[in-house]
Amino acid sequence: MKTEFSLEQLADPDIAEADKILRACVHCGFCTATCPTYVLLGDELDSPRGRIYLIKEMLEKDRPPTPEVVKHIDRCLSCLACMTTCPSGVNYMHLVDQARVRIEKEFRRPLIDRMLRAVLGRVLPDPKLFRASVWLARLGRPLAALLPEPKTPSATPSLVRRIKAMLALAPGKLPAPGPAGGSVFPAVGEQRGRVALLQGCAQQVLAPRINQAAINVLTRHGIEVVLVKDEQCCGALTHHLGDDRDALARARANIAVWRAEAERGGLDAILVTTSGCGTVIKDYGYLLREDPDFAGAAAQISTLAKDISEYLEGIELRSSTLQKGGQDGSFVVAYHAACSLQHGQKITQAPKELLSKSGFVVKDVPESHLCCGSAGTYNILQPDIATRLRDRKLANIATVKPDMIAAGNIGCMMQIAGGTSVPVVHTIELLDWATGGPRPGSN
Ligand code: SF4
Ligand code: SF4
Repeated sequence: MKTEFSLEQLADPDIAEADKILRACVHCGFCTATCPTYVLLGDELDSPRGRIYLIKEMLEKDRPPTPEVVKHIDRCLSCLACMTTCPSGVNYMHLVDQARVRIEKEFRRPLIDRMLRAVLGRVLPDPKLFRASVWLARLGRPLAALLPEPKTPSATPSLVRRIKAMLALAPGKLPAPGPAGGSVFPAVGEQRGRVALLQGCAQQVLAPRINQAAINVLTRHGIEVVLVKDEQCCGALTHHLGDDRDALARARANIAVWRAEAERGGLDAILVTTSGCGTVIKDYGYLLREDPDFAGAAAQISTLAKDISEYLEGIELRSSTLQKGGQDGSFVVAYHAACSLQHGQKITQAPKELLSKSGFVVKDVPESHLCCGSAGTYNILQPDIATRLRDRKLANIATVKPDMIAAGNIGCMMQIAGGTSVPVVHTIELLDWATGGPRPGSN
């Protein structure tokens, strides 16, 4: 794609990067076929190619974002299916991230929108606030039934619709908190390695059992696990809301505490059980590339960050102790490929191979490239598109008749579980079960 940035504009490293990305696009349109919003809405401006044009116009002409641009960028899930499909290697992620930051800085959203986004950006990354808000949501849930239902699904939802979506997502009860930052879990038997395990923010409130399963599997296989003190949200939530000031502050704070831990006790990896977080931590090196104080350290941390399945691939897991549960002795797992894992981190085989080797019958879900609609705060901000995607995902999952559904991202797990009675678990919970831990859901 031909671009026309001035030399003055190109002196800005972000614009220079955008120019490089835009020039790689040959507007072939292959990406439209795998873009969930284009598949649902059929509007070119809700496709990657259409959004690329909108962003190009905005950046090149140095125009403030228009309501039209904001509408179509807001509808993007940042699922990155377009990056997997693109034959020219267009880095849509870095382009749309830049557009979101510009929108956040230069576009004045209606007051209600600003308030909702500010609440989400403040509450979700803070486990204490998030826990309190879930209790409040439980109280407010009966009121949700009194709020009017939209007559038809809308791609521009009202505040009432968003509040209903938020209340519907709040779980009925919360588990007790997991172990605190600063805890160390020694290896069982001879120590073969030492890792930090990201504690996460929403996940540690909603499902501390996930990291417990990871700790079980790792320590059982000779890996010492540390939960680093003073670690905070990775920044993914506010990054996707376009608030890079907050996201980068969190990245810097985490880099500082992880580096200190690596210097003190050594770290082979920083493991992540929430693939949405993993994708952003692996991008810290890029996000802080212009920061002279943090660029080098950020790049090192990005190299250390690994998804739990990626790390376990390099370890010979214990033979399976699985007592199979299906009628013919098999246990069918539908593997839901989280977008952040398959498109963001290009990890497609490791989780499935680990599950297969552990004795599960793993089934791919048809249309597995399409997002389930979770996408961070998307299922709150765009509930109608998100619900349509979830229902499509559930219909596809139903075709493989699973005993359980496995995923590597808490957001997808919550989204999918909201529409099915089939148990939805994290891949690591199944690996824990197969190597001597409890059956998921039994404790
Ligand atoms: S597939 Fe890639 S090159 Fe083709 S239009 Fe989409 S982003 Fe551009
Ligand atoms: S990130 Fe997903 S929703 Fe956004 S343009 Fe790409 S494929 Fe479409």
